[in-house]
Amino acid sequence: MTFQVRRRDEVELQFRGSSSQSFDDEDPEKPRRLWYHRLPLLIIVACILGPQPSILRMLIYHHWRSLHQPAWAVIHFVVSFALTVITLTSLTITVTRDPGPVHTPTAREGVNSDNIGLAEALMGGGDEDDFMKPGRWCRKCWAPKPERAHHCSMCGRCVMKMDHHCPWLGHSCIGHRTYPSFVHFLTSATLLALYVATVAARALMYSFRNPFSVDETTPIHEMALSLYGIIISLVVGPFAAYHFYLITTGQTTLEHITPFMLLRHLPPLPRTGHSLSDPPLEPELSYQQRRLVKDAHSRLSLYDLGWRRNWALVFGWETRWGWVPKLLWGGSSPGDGMHHPRNPRAEDILAKLAADLVKADHDRFN
Ligand SMILES: [Zn+2]
Ligand SMILES: [Zn+2]
Repeated sequence: MTFQVRRRDEVELQFRGSSSQSFDDEDPEKPRRLWYHRLPLLIIVACILGPQPSILRMLIYHHWRSLHQPAWAVIHFVVSFALTVITLTSLTITVTRDPGPVHTPTAREGVNSDNIGLAEALMGGGDEDDFMKPGRWCRKCWAPKPERAHHCSMCGRCVMKMDHHCPWLGHSCIGHRTYPSFVHFLTSATLLALYVATVAARALMYSFRNPFSVDETTPIHEMALSLYGIIISLVVGPFAAYHFYLITTGQTTLEHITPFMLLRHLPPLPRTGHSLSDPPLEPELSYQQRRLVKDAHSRLSLYDLGWRRNWALVFGWETRWGWVPKLLWGGSSPGDGMHHPRNPRAEDILAKLAADLVKADHDRFN
């Protein structure tokens, strides 16, 4: 009996080719994306475009007609328009791009076969692609799972360097190919909100100081714009700041909020002298052992290579003009998304954690 693993993309193609119905209709395990899953995205687009008429009105009635400063009206228009455009471009890329498809080693190496054997799939990668390691084989996709890839139950698939599943941006995942665009979107949206809030607040202050020279309704637009800008920057700004922190420390959101993912990276435990699984499972840990894992997690960011390299691994570019997409829409992270150099301190801290967990287990039962 031969045990064959079908490549998921081949299975999808077969499904699509065999019927006029969509793949979602054919695959009962794949979560469906329903119409209301797009509503948050529509609301976000409305939040970006909605204030534009008020911005234009403020520039014409306040800067141009009241202050007689057409140059400043044009400058504010160009800056706010440019920030709006780059906010929308990075949002579009984040929503439309695949966040990071996970291929089997054979597919990646360009071998054209319909099926690959289980042993071939397990052994097919390089030395660093040890799919026998814990967490390196997805039982749901039934396919190898590269380092830092995760299976998203909402999307029903594995995603390379998955950051998180975002219900706000098209109900899709943020991963290796969309994370820079996502951070670009958060940053440009915050800058747009701060810029509009500052210009509108200054115009509103002028209205209070010069009550005889203001238009009847312009101050209302200015007040609404300044409040709106402050609220949006207070809502979106902290998310942008949080992701700046994650990039600086070389973490994804999932890695930051789930300390027990460290367990799967522990070196092999001694065969005897403890009752732990190898690698240990979260439910079998005592309170003290859980504390040890959380302490190690607070000290160790597994992929932290120093803030310069961490930023380069997210926002770096490989071609001469690669900075252009970074500036305009964020683009994709460099590299193949499957291989990630580790923090040089990682092995020592993981070895100490493994020893501490075994010792705590020994103390617990003796
Ligand atoms: Zn999977
Ligand atoms: Zn997802």
